[in-house]
Amino acid sequence: MPSRVIAGGGCIRRHAREFLPLGKKAAVVTGTRSAAQNGSLADVIFALEANGQEYRVLDKVMSNPTVDCAYECAAAAKSSGADFVVAIGGGSPLDAGKAVALLAAQDLKREELFSGRYKTALPLVAVPTTANTGSEVTQYAILTNDEQETKSAITSPLLFPKIAFLDAEYLKLVPARTAVNTAIDALSHAVEGMLSVRANMMTDSLAANAAREIVAQFGALQAGNLTDAGRERLLYASTAAGMVIANTGTTIVHAMGYSLTYYKNIDHGRANGLLLAAYLKLVEQKNPALAKSIYAKTGLAGATELKKLLGTLLKDKESLSKAEIELYASKAATSKNIANCLVAPSKDKIAKIFTTSLNAV
Ligand SMILES: [Zn+2]
Repeated sequence: MPSRVIAGGGCIRRHAREFLPLGKKAAVVTGTRSAAQNGSLADVIFALEANGQEYRVLDKVMSNPTVDCAYECAAAAKSSGADFVVAIGGGSPLDAGKAVALLAAQDLKREELFSGRYKTALPLVAVPTTANTGSEVTQYAILTNDEQETKSAITSPLLFPKIAFLDAEYLKLVPARTAVNTAIDALSHAVEGMLSVRANMMTDSLAANAAREIVAQFGALQAGNLTDAGRERLLYASTAAGMVIANTGTTIVHAMGYSLTYYKNIDHGRANGLLLAAYLKLVEQKNPALAKSIYAKTGLAGATELKKLLGTLLKDKESLSKAEIELYASKAATSKNIANCLVAPSKDKIAKIFTTSLNAV
């Protein structure tokens, strides 16, 4: 995990000089509003100005950024002459920022974008402002891929941010619903990391601790009264879970969730949360020893209890038709993530997970 993590209140202003070796001009990639409201953009600009570094703010990143969005943003970064990228925001701006770092550094045709064959990327700093996808410490940039009708990952060691700044102060204005969805995404990363063929003692210890910390905040998440300390714990847990998936990747849960996001516009974290317990139930049946060891490490009581716990946070479930379940199951059954699962479900089992997790109509 080659990204440096600098954490704590005020860390960007206190460590402003860390930006200095990265370049002369920054492309500051962010969404339309939140970075300006939560103080993160002002802190980054303060640091860059203190160093005498130029910058151009590119604040048009949409949620679930498309390939088009990434190319447009990269063209703007390139024409500005930026030689490094600072990405600020939730998972969407961070992933868009990574794509910009790649696309501004070299000419890549669209058919080469997900190829994994890249020469170089601009140095990147990541500032998460939600307790997030963990993108600040991963080599993945997830983009909406209209050609494949799903979300696809650009994966390259070049995409690890040079520095991740973690300041929970920026999470104060996150809406309650977003706080719930992002926490559930991070929990899913931790648990899926433990269900990966690449799981090991080190990733499991990070994952187990992250899962415990996240579940400990469920009451406050539901009541909408997270404390400053609670937000910080969630931020650190989501970064730890990001370190896990940087090593293990995700499993069938994420592959299934991408269809819910692409076709039904269901938030990414919510999509995983809807599916996670039903997949764990299957793991309990197929590999009880694995399920037992995960519950012992994380303190989770079991799939049925997790379903109840997540159900209170997720409330009313969306409906899926038979045709939708058929389409999403066949897409997930042919996804790369299948090979990453210690318990690899058949297409029928995947369809059953959809049926039991959402309202099948
Ligand atoms: Zn995720």
